[in-house]
Amino acid sequence: MLTCDDYITPASLDEAFDAMAAHRSHYRIVAGATDTLPWAREGRAGDVHIPVLIDVTKIHELLHISVGDKRVRLGAATPIQRFLDDTNLARSLPAMPRCAVWFADDQIRAQATIGGNIVNASPAADATPCLIAHEAEVELAKKSGGKITRRRMKLDQFVTGPNRTELEEGELLVGVECDALPGCGGSFEKVGHRRSLVISLVCLATLVKLDGKGRYIEDVRLSIAGIGPKPLRLNEIENFLRRGPVSAERFNQAADMPVSLVASRTRQEYRREVVRGFVLRGLINAARAAGAKPDTLTPELEAAYA
Ligand SMILES: Cc1cc2nc3c(=O)[nH]c(=O)nc-3n(C[C@H](O)[C@H](O)[C@H](O)COP(=O)(O)OP(=O)(O)OC[C@H]3O[C@@H](n4cnc5c(N)ncnc54)[C@H](O)[C@@H]3O)c2cc1C
Repeated sequence: MLTCDDYITPASLDEAFDAMAAHRSHYRIVAGATDTLPWAREGRAGDVHIPVLIDVTKIHELLHISVGDKRVRLGAATPIQRFLDDTNLARSLPAMPRCAVWFADDQIRAQATIGGNIVNASPAADATPCLIAHEAEVELAKKSGGKITRRRMKLDQFVTGPNRTELEEGELLVGVECDALPGCGGSFEKVGHRRSLVISLVCLATLVKLDGKGRYIEDVRLSIAGIGPKPLRLNEIENFLRRGPVSAERFNQAADMPVSLVASRTRQEYRREVVRGFVLRGLINAARAAGAKPDTLTPELEAAYA
């Protein structure tokens, strides 16, 4: 069980940093607490007492979302449910609604935030690979000498390994900025141990942009998690597919490429098999969502993987 003496809900970054300074070494940041509470459950960390919990979900800046033509800005406290409710956001981040659909259940989705997903840095985190496919950058802030200072870095550099990030002591994740990709088709593939409330063993976000005729790939992005210590972009496959035709042969060749990247020591053969199938299925689903012409992919291939 998790207990605390004080639960603080600052309304601004200033208030949050002041609370952090006042309770130095005795606080923990929480957002939706959907990673924090299971961590503190008996049998994992055991009974945990944290003197002060500082809840960042009422900080206006962390809730702010803006959708531009080129970039989308998401406050760190954006709940996963938002990607299902906000059609404008869903249009600009086409893999996120598919990710959100498979993310836990209604209750958890309403609580769980993208900031918590990123900072917890589980190798199984679902939102992180989607955002990496959108070239996401994190915005971090801290207060020193009475002044709030900010820095930015690419999300794939911010996450350094399982449950490890570049977040410094006294720093908060304020938001994420990423490419707006309306017109791309998106897909999200995920597999885990159970049928419901699945925590991913492997997941893959795919984004495909086609030419006006629906036959050639103008842009493609694939980002995978669960095959190594941190999520990664499949750059080699992207380069192979970019400016090439949408075809069963090309997709099959692409699916064979990432198998050697599987670095996880557990269930390696299984993960290799999953990765091959996911790349194929991700490409088919994303290409279809992007408007691929029906004759570009064979019915046999689609029946096997869609
Ligand atoms: C039943 C269940 C099902 C789940 N299913 C999924 C799933 O399908 N996919 C998936 O990816 N995850 C899943 N999770 C895990 C969890 O819901 C997600 O990782 C979620 O996004 C965490 O967000 P949160 O706001 O709840 O994080 P919290 O638990 O509040 O915080 C997690 C960590 O991030 C830190 N933190 C949070 N916000 C900030 C900030 N702004 N700045 C600095 N540090 C911060 C906290 O201090 C803590 O260390 C599931 C969890 C449960 C309990």
